[in-house]
Amino acid sequence: MDSGPTDRDALIRETLESIFGHRSLRPLQDEAIRAGLDRRDSLVVLPTGGGKSLCYQLPPAVDGSTWVVVSPLIALMKDQVDGLVTSGYPAAALHSLMDADAQRQVELDFLAGDLRLLFVAPERLVTPRFLAIAREAGVVSFAIDEAHCISQWGHDFRPEYRRLTEIRRQIPGAVLHAFTATATPRVRADIVAQLGLGGGDVLVGDFDRPNLTYRVVARTGLADQITEVLARHGCTGNGASGGARSGNGSVSGEGAIVYCLSRKDCEKTAEALGARGIDADYYHAGLDPNRRRSVQERFSGERLNVVCATVAFGMGIDRSNVRCVIHACMPASVEAYQQEAGRAGRDGLPAECVLFYAPADAQRWRRFFARPATAADPWEEDDPPPEPEAALVEAKESLLRDMQRYASGVECRHRFLSEYFGQRRSEGSCNACDVCLGELDTVADSDDIAKKICSCLVRIGEPRYGVGHLVDVLTGSEKETVWRRGHDRLSTFALLKDTPMRTVQAFVHQLIDQGAIGRTGDEYPVLYPTRATAEVLKGQRPVRLIETKRRSTRTKADAASWEGVDRELFDRLRAVRTALATERQVPPYVIFSDATLRDLARLRPATRQDMLACHGVGKKKAEDFADHFLPVIAGG
Ligand code: ADP
Repeated sequence: MDSGPTDRDALIRETLESIFGHRSLRPLQDEAIRAGLDRRDSLVVLPTGGGKSLCYQLPPAVDGSTWVVVSPLIALMKDQVDGLVTSGYPAAALHSLMDADAQRQVELDFLAGDLRLLFVAPERLVTPRFLAIAREAGVVSFAIDEAHCISQWGHDFRPEYRRLTEIRRQIPGAVLHAFTATATPRVRADIVAQLGLGGGDVLVGDFDRPNLTYRVVARTGLADQITEVLARHGCTGNGASGGARSGNGSVSGEGAIVYCLSRKDCEKTAEALGARGIDADYYHAGLDPNRRRSVQERFSGERLNVVCATVAFGMGIDRSNVRCVIHACMPASVEAYQQEAGRAGRDGLPAECVLFYAPADAQRWRRFFARPATAADPWEEDDPPPEPEAALVEAKESLLRDMQRYASGVECRHRFLSEYFGQRRSEGSCNACDVCLGELDTVADSDDIAKKICSCLVRIGEPRYGVGHLVDVLTGSEKETVWRRGHDRLSTFALLKDTPMRTVQAFVHQLIDQGAIGRTGDEYPVLYPTRATAEVLKGQRPVRLIETKRRSTRTKADAASWEGVDRELFDRLRAVRTALATERQVPPYVIFSDATLRDLARLRPATRQDMLACHGVGKKKAEDFADHFLPVIAGG
């Protein structure tokens, strides 16, 4: 029956190539597209960058139907519509920022069957007026993007999503396709139950993101550490904007997000980077809307590369060539980490995710969990947390412990993340995390050093002090706080004087994580010896101390992704893209992705026809952009 390619297969392939410029489908896209064409309900769970949009963009283009897409943010809708229209795909959005005439025109196009996709917000979709129009237009297929927003267990609950069940009541024969990147089984079950998807296809993709390199680094001197990471991405402190500013306002250097916990931290970090010559801005929910929009637009438009932000900087940014996501502080769950780190490398090219971690991060989160609640969305440290109930606090505590296991763990990061989301990963090196790349060294005399640290802690005795003081004593600091307390006379004074202060600090943190040293959870946490401290001292409890080798470098995969690419030509093509994007008032990736630009600078097409061989170039884009890019290629 289903042997050999059918007409429909051929049509799918042709549409894929001519509109989207892709040669083949990614895992599960085929199944999702078939469910769409066969009008079967579906839930599609794919990681960020997995290609969910194509699953609802392609079916209507193949069978000439119209689909409605539910999307939570106007910025997301606009970017997608811009991208589709640039590819010659009939799509539009209806939202509150449009004037009445523009809305009316879109409704007329929709009713006339001229659109393949119409994007709307959930609150508009469930109005009797919109449902009546959809009925009149004969629409039955609905794509629900960011479907985890329907679940209280998701990290971005939006009550208006709950009302989407209205679609089933009001549209006879409605078919629902839910899409999300949130993988926890609980959220998945919630989506299926609430949208009544039980009889449909449930398609869950592979959550591993092989193009991302994960690193966890002990936080010792944050601004310098961030600067070092950014330098790997061409954002250097030469007084320009994370790189040199060219005549057309674009900047060289790559896109990077630095996630901070609080609004104050964002501002402080951006300032510290600025003091090092890096043009970084900050973004959080406390800024006025104009300023937020400006930062977002400059970042999307590649006129700004480094943004220090709270989690409020998230869903609305769709810059696909973010090459680096840095966490200045540990997030509260592995889900949140996966989501935030997942904003790197959405174009499938290599990217880096660095988590700067100190055990105090967990204490910070615990303090917020304990605060009284009011609703705040998205949640930032400065806002009170959303739910006060004991059961939810307990759930958060357990999520936090899992995150801490990731941060202090020394096993393959890709394997940890895959297993966390219930998926198996083959054994062996991933070649894309600090552990597998051999950047972490077990210190040969771990037990010996641990004994010295624990012994010093016991000798300091009471009153108790924090990490800083213990490190001062161990490294033989001449600070007044040491001699005034008489701690320069302890036998353990200066016992680790030949080890850099930051390394000793990292060791103390690791001993806290491994339970060998106790630490109070107060606002000013102090250290205390536990039974495990005594066991370490007696040699009854082995410990493993890790030292990060000084330099992380770009990975082999990253180097390979640039193979054959003329870097200078790439930069020139990037400037053409920025100019075109500015002129058309769309984000640059809507014109061409980085993967396309690299292919152009690698294959150096001479004609429109040649351009079609480059990643992501369909007929329409080749026609529209050949005159802009080909002369630059010919001239370079
Ligand atoms: P998601 O919504 O799952 O995060 P997107 O739909 O934004 O992911 O797709 C991520 C990137 O992958 C986009 O740049 C898109 O053009 C690209 N992409 C999607 N499907 C394919 C495919 N079959 N082949 C090549 N690139 C693809």
